[in-house]
Amino acid sequence: MAELTPMMQQYMEIKNQYKDCILFYRLGDFYEMFFEDALTCSKELEITLTGKNCGQEERAPMCGVPYHAVESYLSKLISKGYRVAICEQVEDPKAAKGIVKREVIRIVTPGTNLNPQALDESKNNYLMGIVHTINAYGIATVDVTTGDFYVTEVDTDRKLLDEINKFNPSEIICNSTFIVSGVDTLDLKNRLQISISDLEPWYFDDDLCVNALKEHFSVSSLAGLGLKDYTIGVIAAGAIMQYLYETQKNSLSHLTRLTPYITSKYMILDSSTRRNLELVETLREKQKRGSLLWVLDKTKTAMGARLLRSYVEQPLIDKNEINERLDAITELNNTVIIREEIREYLNPIYDLERLISRISYKSAGPRDLISFKSSLSMLPYIKGLLQGSSGKLLNQIYTELDPLEDIFNLIEQSIVEEPPLAVKEGGIIKDGYHDEVDKLRKAKTEGKTWLAELETREKENTGIKNLKIKFNRVFGYYLEVTNSYQNLVPDTWIRKQTLANAERYTTTELKELEEVILGAEDKLFSLEYDIFCEIRDKIGNEVNRIQQTAKAIAKIDVFASLALVAERNNFTRPSINEDGVIDIKDGRHPVVEQMLLSDMFVTNDTYLNNKENRVSIITGPNMAGKSTYMRQTALIVLLAQIGSFVPASHAEIGIVDRIFTRVGASDDLASGQSTFMVEMTEVANILRNATKNSLLILDEIGRGTSTFDGLSIAWAVVEHISNPKLLGAKTLFATHYHELTELEGKLDSVNNYCIAVKEHGEDIIFLRKIIKGGADKSYGIQVAKLAGVPDSVLKRAFEIVDELSKNDIAEKARAIHVDKKSIMKDNEDITLREQSVSDLTVKTKKRHGEIPDQMSLFDLSSN
Ligand code: ADP
Repeated sequence: MAELTPMMQQYMEIKNQYKDCILFYRLGDFYEMFFEDALTCSKELEITLTGKNCGQEERAPMCGVPYHAVESYLSKLISKGYRVAICEQVEDPKAAKGIVKREVIRIVTPGTNLNPQALDESKNNYLMGIVHTINAYGIATVDVTTGDFYVTEVDTDRKLLDEINKFNPSEIICNSTFIVSGVDTLDLKNRLQISISDLEPWYFDDDLCVNALKEHFSVSSLAGLGLKDYTIGVIAAGAIMQYLYETQKNSLSHLTRLTPYITSKYMILDSSTRRNLELVETLREKQKRGSLLWVLDKTKTAMGARLLRSYVEQPLIDKNEINERLDAITELNNTVIIREEIREYLNPIYDLERLISRISYKSAGPRDLISFKSSLSMLPYIKGLLQGSSGKLLNQIYTELDPLEDIFNLIEQSIVEEPPLAVKEGGIIKDGYHDEVDKLRKAKTEGKTWLAELETREKENTGIKNLKIKFNRVFGYYLEVTNSYQNLVPDTWIRKQTLANAERYTTTELKELEEVILGAEDKLFSLEYDIFCEIRDKIGNEVNRIQQTAKAIAKIDVFASLALVAERNNFTRPSINEDGVIDIKDGRHPVVEQMLLSDMFVTNDTYLNNKENRVSIITGPNMAGKSTYMRQTALIVLLAQIGSFVPASHAEIGIVDRIFTRVGASDDLASGQSTFMVEMTEVANILRNATKNSLLILDEIGRGTSTFDGLSIAWAVVEHISNPKLLGAKTLFATHYHELTELEGKLDSVNNYCIAVKEHGEDIIFLRKIIKGGADKSYGIQVAKLAGVPDSVLKRAFEIVDELSKNDIAEKARAIHVDKKSIMKDNEDITLREQSVSDLTVKTKKRHGEIPDQMSLFDLSSN
């Protein structure tokens, strides 16, 4: 260390405290990186690597980025998973004796990035804290850009993964045992691109965690926050809190609430179901266009867009809650004029949640306050339009929506309409708001008049016709005389600077004037800055009211959007039941219908219940529309449980606790498992975790192996699913194994459907209509023809198919004996046969570790 220059010594001391971060070290107008950091940054940011003399023989590798463009560079590094410590000069360099004092003022990590340009405004940016213990996980999830903060606990890896998939955090912090728990953290890193770091044990110390939460929320006991029963959750939330203090070095006053929730309050959707149903992005292109959210999202504000996304990510299972949302949509559609007027007023509203967070972080500038004000000006109108709403939710929104007139007035009175970007160069505060500001401003403007007078006077005295008083930052005010008039310059003038065609001078009088003017200006700028900060803090103190209003705005935006979509897309209000009956008339696929020309979509009915219509076996050629039909049913159920209207002419929806899908080719090939293995793993998951209140969408189970194995597995799966004593879940089962249609006669709850096609010579015409009965032909060769397979191959295929059909296995399938009792025989639950069905389900689940003892299970109450 001794050899290093003093600046480098300071650098090394700071860098040593932030070894896991890239250190952005402020040097004048640049942030500089040195040594390893410099090598990393020059590569990742594609900036030039230079060197700096550091006192040692070799120069230190160095690269830098200008301070005003730092955000884009930061975001680039963060998106690549780096953490960056921002080290600022914390004293005025002019006032510093020796090396300027520097400190790290913030650590930016993927989960704490605040840069609006780097964040998608329609998505939350979550940081998740996970605590792993022997038999449970504590999960806390926070978005520092909006102040949303949640906590829960789960008891299995799978449920933890469901939560991770639901929130899709950009960063996870965890205790070290999580890394070696049963969860595949590598997959989370690689596939979901989540940055994961295990923190030192003290972050998870019980007392420290509890105290951190108590202090932050100013409560004497956590029971007041509703956290009494969340012992592990509290540790996760406490660890997050401490991590945020460590990295943000900020009061975090915008984290006003910590909301506990129980995962069983929502429909459970595992990651492959979320992906397969293309809820928020498409399977292949990973883009919003083509997803369910794309159809639903007609929101006007960023807050609304985020809330709608979270509704789609977590459908409800409580009939009342669903109906309340449906009521809100009905009411808004009964008064379309009001709905549209509300949407007009929502249009100019900025992201209040992220604005208030920036205000709390003290990073909001004067222009942010003006955006804030213009947004606030809309609130009274929206509140006015909501007055007299009759439904519970709209009423609640009306009550929660605070017009925030005091804050509007404060900004209106104090901040000019078009303030500059910079906060320290004046021009922010309105005339008449503050006496001292007015006085200094007057001195400044009067000074300008004095200057003009001096210029005229000196022009007359000297006869220099083009004499001008000018200003620049380095030399201050000066008199400029072009070379042709040099002979007229009086001796008393003092030369300041020589240019090619002119000379610049000052005089005693000009110097005095300059002091008054610049002195006033300095004072004015710093006073304006102070007043601005005061106003910003005052607004920051109202964070609770502002966040509550922002949420109210988000909700009305979501319901207005759902209402509009319902109207435009001709959706109907579903009627919600708890009897397990799904009865859809003229259902449509909400996304596919948007992709087709109007009226091209062929509507189809679905009827499923918990008795004789539990399992539908769906046959039909490729391209007939089987998977569209199955997904459409799942999406209609999901839409209903979000609280949205649905694409059908009539829909009765029995609430389901989970939707499982096993659809088409898996995109998990990269994980190194064979397609068949992936498929079977998913089937295993479904059979173990589904309940009789679940909806299963199974597409071509058993494809990836020999026909006999595949058919046998598919057959056994259907037997298992349809048996209420084993599972008894409502299921749509698409298959190419026509032999499975034999099950209709053998099992009470299984019914055959097929998608109609019409033969036309050697071709087929797809009718897209689902009808009762099994398909008798696959038409695989006809579809191959449509795809352009050469004629010679097709011809030969026809010949072979003829040969093979002679040895049809259908005959044998017909002969398979399904003894309804024999299905039970080998099953471990045989001893429980005498008990009630619901009791049995719980026991089976408990054995698989799925249901903690204290949790009341949704499926116990219904049926
Ligand atoms: P399968 O699963 O039977 O192979 P898909 O469900 O993938 O068939 O459907 C193939 C294509 O047919 C879809 O991409 C869609 O464009 C069209 N399609 C499916 N169902 C319908 C329908 N009900 N009305 C109109 N077009 C449909």
